[in-house]
Amino acid sequence: MKPANSETIESQALDNDAHPLDHLIRTDRIPHIWCPGCGIGTAFSAALRGLAASGIDLAKTCVVSGIGCSGRAAGYVNLDSFHTTHGRAIPFATGLKLGNPELNVVVFSGDGDLFAIGGNHFIHAARRNMDLTVICLNNLNYGMTGGQVAATTPHQAKTTTTQNGNPEAPFNLPLLAFAAGAPSWPAGPSCIPAS
Ligand code: SF4
Repeated sequence: MKPANSETIESQALDNDAHPLDHLIRTDRIPHIWCPGCGIGTAFSAALRGLAASGIDLAKTCVVSGIGCSGRAAGYVNLDSFHTTHGRAIPFATGLKLGNPELNVVVFSGDGDLFAIGGNHFIHAARRNMDLTVICLNNLNYGMTGGQVAATTPHQAKTTTTQNGNPEAPFNLPLLAFAAGAPSWPAGPSCIPAS
């Protein structure tokens, strides 16, 4: 499937039979790999709806992901997108922005990719404020590889590699982004249980 451009986005959005996000998804790649009920699907949908509602030129918008469950997003979005190596989504996005400052560059990846192996890249991207949008899906562990402890795993939480409880303190991601100089750092759950 060809990446979306302004013309295809407009014509497909007018097709009443289409799902509202069909024009932004590589439907030939569906079914996706995400587990039923995983918050990644909710976040992915919200990100695409936000892109569609923002009014930005989607023909000048790129999505970059790293490795992990969330990293599969780049393969599903029908824009120019890049599924990069582990921990290197932000440096790849930095290169895109340096090469063409007009691009809207969105990084969509997980906590392991962005804050463990890629943590150094995150703090320097925040410090430089290069007009990148970084969306981190924080599932508090390494989900794709079996639920191992991560840099975001809560203290005393049990994982496959901390069966007596995690002895380490986790990163507080919004505070880390703030301390590194990011201009904004909204955070929230992918769903709110009904009361
Ligand atoms: S392994 Fe975890 S993070 Fe990955 S898709 Fe399944 S529920 Fe989501």
